[in-house]
Amino acid sequence: MTMDSLNKLDIGAKYGRDFRRTILIVDDEPVNLRLLGNILGDEYDIDFAQSADEAISIIQSEKDAISLVLLDLHMPGKSGFEVLDTMSADKDLHNIPVVVVTTDKDAEVESLHRGAIDFLSKPYDKPEVIRARIGRAIELFIDKTIIGATGVDRLTGLMTRDFFFQYCQEYDKFHPEQQVDAVVVNFSKFHLINDLYGRNFGDQILKAMAEGTRTVARAYGGVACRYNADCFYLYIEHQKDYKYLKKTLVEKLFEVLSTTNTRLRIGVYPDLYRSCSLQQRFDRALQACNTISRNAHDTEVAVYDNEMHEKELYEERLLADIDEALQNNQINVVFQPKYNVRGEKPVLCGAEALIRWKHPKFGFVRPDFFIPLFEENGQIKELDRFVWRESARQIRKWRDLYGVTIPVSVNVSRAEIFAPDLIDFLNGIVEENGLENSDLSLEITETAYTDSVISIVDVVEEIRGKGFKVAMDDFGKGYSSLNMLTSLPIDSLKLDMGFIKDIAIDNKEMRVVEFVLEVANFLGVPVIAEGVETSEQYLLLKKAGCNIIQGYYFSKPLVPSEFGNLIEHNAEKKKS
Ligand code: C2E
Ligand code: CA
Ligand code: CA
Repeated sequence: MTMDSLNKLDIGAKYGRDFRRTILIVDDEPVNLRLLGNILGDEYDIDFAQSADEAISIIQSEKDAISLVLLDLHMPGKSGFEVLDTMSADKDLHNIPVVVVTTDKDAEVESLHRGAIDFLSKPYDKPEVIRARIGRAIELFIDKTIIGATGVDRLTGLMTRDFFFQYCQEYDKFHPEQQVDAVVVNFSKFHLINDLYGRNFGDQILKAMAEGTRTVARAYGGVACRYNADCFYLYIEHQKDYKYLKKTLVEKLFEVLSTTNTRLRIGVYPDLYRSCSLQQRFDRALQACNTISRNAHDTEVAVYDNEMHEKELYEERLLADIDEALQNNQINVVFQPKYNVRGEKPVLCGAEALIRWKHPKFGFVRPDFFIPLFEENGQIKELDRFVWRESARQIRKWRDLYGVTIPVSVNVSRAEIFAPDLIDFLNGIVEENGLENSDLSLEITETAYTDSVISIVDVVEEIRGKGFKVAMDDFGKGYSSLNMLTSLPIDSLKLDMGFIKDIAIDNKEMRVVEFVLEVANFLGVPVIAEGVETSEQYLLLKKAGCNIIQGYYFSKPLVPSEFGNLIEHNAEKKKS
């Protein structure tokens, strides 16, 4: 590999100057040490050893820092050959390049056989020649490391993420004072490009993104990599603003897309004081990136700021406080009534259980804020099951108090669907409370289906086979298709709030809702509309054949005692 191709690999504009590498010079004569030290000292950090034994011990202890060994062959005691042999035999050391220094032509050949990669002759060549040969040897060594680590992304020629992180770490080691920016670049909804225009075009886009990040990395003395599919990482010197960065990336894409409406999302974490780890810095850049909507119409740059930091701390705090919250009754379950609207008057027909957390310091924390946190850290299982158990108990309590059974639906987070003990747990809480399995219904969010249709069908069939009901939640929120409905085994379909938000007589939104209702009707799947707030929405949905309605129009979620009152006074409370 040549220096040219190295540049293509994006070692960065200042490769060579970027890192001060360390060279170990081994020679028994102090004058030689000084001479070579002077020639190379401007560009490299120099270590010295005056015997083979000393050299071996330094190489062993500093193996991560040494980029090259310059080795005199003729020394009293052990010769340079023994250093070569020791290094060749040790898998941690045999990759460190060795250039031998000798007057003896035969010894040159011998030393190449024993692992040296080049030689310098005594008396010394001109300083420029020495510097060039040493530079070249180090370059070759880096090539080898890159190839060894399969550090190149095939599609884009950028570094892979492993190599990238290795490189950044090394950069940090050598430049502890340098202010740096961690940058994440993401193409919004890239999968749509693949779906709409095919993989080849998708590849072209990725290459253009690579070209853009490469150009920026060069200009700013940094490095770039493709982190995963459509996500690129950049590590560059800190910038005052990100205009050039954005402009360069957009322009490169423009060559392929012929529109400046490129919808890149760029997140930056400027680290001025090196206050956190490399991984953390990129996490924060990603966090900044994720504050930009995937539906934004233009390329946007978000810089991690104090507000995001506050949010991070807040999230940390919530994660730390959950166990105590569960123990101290800060977590509760509320129930939102559902009404069957097929008859003349709406009839209370069930409830959805919704979690509530009243934090002693922060007050009520929104579930759509904290649920994703616990989904990510795995503790959602505890929370979900707490709600399911409370729900089962509550069904029993109401039955004892009022003589009626109110079926309750509970939310099942995505990770939970595949839990091997799911059915055992459900059976357990049903038995404990003397209920029927059909009193419980599981709401599985639509995106869980779209993520993994095939395996989820089996699980859902098993759950339904045991008599539990399954509802598809949030229909219309993700990339749902009506097609999916025909292949999925479900007992009911919940239309997402966003789906019905803008319905009005004869408008486009209403026609879509009508169409979904028709298909569901045809398939014999009852439809629940949620988030119904107004009487107009209610009447339109009822007229179009919607079966069940849940929303503020009827009631907000209620604490169990309030819900009890509702059951008791159901008859009077019915609306027409
Ligand atoms: P979801 O399952 O779609 O629940 C419906 C959300 O809409 C609830 O918000 C409910 O209070 C709200 N809502 C109901 N009617 C109306 C209305 O007319 N107008 C408006 N604007 N909102 C209405 P909530 O309780 O804040 O829950 C938010 C989300 O958090 C839920 O969305 C669900 O995804 C999740 N969640 C709640 N409880 C649990 C739980 O126990 N486990 C899991 N995994 N997720 C839960
Ligand atoms: Ca739900
Ligand atoms: Ca929902």
